[in-house]
Parts: sequence; structure tokens; C-alpha cells
Amino acid sequence: MNFESVKKETVILNPQKEITERRIPSEIRIDPLTGRTARICHFMKLQWEKPDFDALVAGTDAWCPFCGDNVLEVTPCFPGDLIAEGRMRRDDMVIFPNIAPYDSIGAVATFGARHYIPMTGFTPEHMADAFGFVLDFFRRVAAAGHPESVYHIVNWNYMPPAGSSLIHPHLQVFSTSSAPNLMRQEIEASERYCDSNGTVYWDDLVAAEKDSGERYLGTIGRTHWLTAFAPMGVAGDVLAVVEDARCTLDLTGDDLADIASGLSKLMAEYDKMGVYSFNMNFFTAVWGDDHFRFHLLFSPRTFFNQKLGTPDMGALRNLFNETLCMAYPEEINALLKKGF
Ligand SMILES: [Zn+2]
Repeated sequence: MNFESVKKETVILNPQKEITERRIPSEIRIDPLTGRTARICHFMKLQWEKPDFDALVAGTDAWCPFCGDNVLEVTPCFPGDLIAEGRMRRDDMVIFPNIAPYDSIGAVATFGARHYIPMTGFTPEHMADAFGFVLDFFRRVAAAGHPESVYHIVNWNYMPPAGSSLIHPHLQVFSTSSAPNLMRQEIEASERYCDSNGTVYWDDLVAAEKDSGERYLGTIGRTHWLTAFAPMGVAGDVLAVVEDARCTLDLTGDDLADIASGLSKLMAEYDKMGVYSFNMNFFTAVWGDDHFRFHLLFSPRTFFNQKLGTPDMGALRNLFNETLCMAYPEEINALLKKGF
């Protein structure tokens, strides 16, 4: 496993200190699988101030489409040949079509009736239940023989800094034959890696990270947790690789419980840094893609300027798709490891 990086240095003169020279390091890391580059720079202490949540949430329940009776009145229904009962329900959780779909089979799954759940308020049991409910939806899409039943993807935008337009917690759920960019690049690169090395990149990555320990967080069941070598998030990314699983529908109930348990540990640790928002995506291949391992990526989200609401990504990320992380992943690992 080749963890390659290019180290750089900037020299500046400090006018406050008699024009003394200051040297600022930075690093460009190359993702060992895809060759994607990530900059480690703009160093700062990973500590943010949390907002006044009462003020942030106040009144947003009044117009929330997922609150109270609304969720069964204003949200759309699936056609009968896909989900005969229109919307799927389990306890107070509901799955219904996304009114703003980005693919043919696009759904939303609510976490239940509660309008606001703080990041540290999600229990592992609750998250595992929600993921299990979503997998039932995917199984029904598969059973219906729908042509988009190929990649079964769950995305989670938790809270507005992560791209959620609602406070009410929910998952973006979709089945598609069109793999999103990075997932497609990973699947193709995993296949090439397997062809030329005769081994599975993901298994080799886990073994290498476990061996070095610098970025490894721990094992829960057959899920392996590590801080990404070339993260996309400004406060790092955490990767969970599920041993032997190729795709979302390979996940067992135990895997979902283990994933939920790991996520709750991450949320607790990032909460201590003042982070209250994150993205989480499933990365899946299909049955028979033996070169791939199902994994999820958890990426905390914050602001460059909280007061102004400046998002944590600008032109570099938006137009070059070049990312920056404001601490070394190995240091982030040390912070997160306290909770693992
Ligand atoms: Zn609500």
C-alpha cells in the first residue's frame, strides 16, 4: 500500500514580529486507490463554537413537512407496482418518494416523529433500526425487478451545514444504475487493483492501516474504522469498511448494529470539537464485484466563518474538486480514538 504525499512549505514575513520569517508547512496527499489529491493545510485547532440550538430550531417545526400528520398528508406516495401501500411505515418512521428526486428511484426515510434530534441524541439502536428499514425498502425495489435496482445508496445530510434544508432528521435513499462519480471511480479502480495485484484493495488497506496503527480506530464486529489518509472533509473523514460485504444488500442486521455503534462513537467525539453537522454516504458495488468492499464515509461539516455562514467549501472544492483538511488525519485519529 503506497501512502504517497508531497510536502510543501510557504515562507512568509511577519510584520508584527520585526519582519521575522515564518515557515508554514502543507501537504498534498494522494489517495492510494483513485489518485485523487487532498490538501492538508490551513492548520487550526479543531474546535468550533456550537450555535444556540434553541434559536436555530425554534419555529422550524411549524412548517416542517415531516412533523405530525404532515408526513402522511403532504408527502407523495410510490406507485402501486413498487410499494403497494404507497408509503412504507415502521413504528413512527416513514419512507416516501423524494419530491425532488435525482434519480428514478429516490426516497426519503425519516428517523421518526421527533423534529430535532441532537447529534449526540441518536442511539445506536435507533440508527440501526432506520438503516434496517431502508434496507427493507431496497429489498422491495429489488423484488419488484426494477431496472434501477443496481446500486442501493444511503446518504445522510445531518443539519443545514451539511446540505439539509430541514432540521427534521432524515436519510436520502436511492437505487440507481448510474453510480455517482467518486463511487464509480472507486469501483473501477478497485477492479484494476484486483486485476494487477490479485488482492482486494480494501482488504489490503485495512491490513496496512491496522498494521501501522496511525489511522486505525478499531474493529466492531466485521466493520473496520479508520481516519482517511486523504480526507475530503475539513475536519477529516472516517471510513468504515465491512469485511466480505460487496454491496448494501450484503449487510446483515449485526453489520447495521455495528455501523450504528461506530457512528455514535464518532458523533460523540466530533461533538466535543463543536461539530454538529455531517455527511455520511454508503459506497456500494453489486453482487459479484468481488474486488470491492462495502464501506461508508463519515465527513463532519462546519463553516469557514460561522458568523457569516461561510460554508466549509469554496472554489477549490466546488470547481477543482480539490479538498482541504485543517489537521493531519493522524492527529484527528488521536482525538477520535478516545471514544473508540
Ligand atoms: Zn419536523
